[in-house]
Amino acid sequence: MYQCTVTVIRRGLIGGIYSYLVVPEGRSFQYHATKTIFDVSFFIIISTIGLNIIFGIIVDTFSELRDAKWQADQDMRSSCFICSKGSHDFARCKGGFEKHVKSEHNLWSYLFYILYLEEKSRNEFTTIERYVWKLYQKKRTDYFPLYTSLTIKQEDEDAQMSAIVTCVSYLVGKRKELDIARQRELEQLRQRQWEARYAQSRRSRAARMHIQTVRAKQLASDVDD
Ligand SMILES: [Zn+2]
Repeated sequence: MYQCTVTVIRRGLIGGIYSYLVVPEGRSFQYHATKTIFDVSFFIIISTIGLNIIFGIIVDTFSELRDAKWQADQDMRSSCFICSKGSHDFARCKGGFEKHVKSEHNLWSYLFYILYLEEKSRNEFTTIERYVWKLYQKKRTDYFPLYTSLTIKQEDEDAQMSAIVTCVSYLVGKRKELDIARQRELEQLRQRQWEARYAQSRRSRAARMHIQTVRAKQLASDVDD
C-alpha cells in the first residue's frame, strides 16, 4: 500500500500516470474503458483540483501574511505603539507624530529599558524599576502611558494659557476703553460746568454794568436838578 501510494504520487504528479500504467495487450474494450475512467478521474481530482487547492492555500497564506504586515505597518504609521494615540492627535504639536515616536515614545527605548532591567541586579533596583519589573514579570503593560502624552499635555496647557492670556488681554482692553469713556464724560461734564459758570459770570457782569449805568444816569439827573 505504501509502495503503491509512493508510486502513484511519483508517477502521477511527474510525467503522468497514464503513460506509466499502460494497458497490457490483448485486453478487452471494457478494460480500456475502465482505465480511461481511472486516468481521467486522476487527472481531474489529483492533477487539477488537488494541485489547485494546494496552490490556492499557498497563495491565500501569502496574501494573509502580506495583509497582516500591511496592517501592522499601517498601525505603526497611524498610531503610537506605546500610548496608542493617533498620528492626527500630534498634528498641532511641534515636530508632529514623527518626533513623538522618535523622541518621546521610542519603541526601542522601552525595549532597551527592559533589557537593562534584565541585566541589572535585583538588589539594586530603584522603586520605579522594581515596579516596572514586577509588571513585566506578570506580562502586563500598565507602565505604558496609555492614551497619555506629555507633548500633548504641554500643548493643551499652552493652549489654555494662550486662551487665558487672550481673555485677560480682552478684559484689560475693555477696561481701558471704559476708563477712557469715563474720562471723556468727566471732561465733558467739567466743560459744561465751566461753560455754565462762564455764562453766569457774564450775566452777573452785565447786570452790574446795567446797575452802574442806571445809577450813573440817576446821578446825572440829580445833578441837573
Ligand atoms: Zn505615544
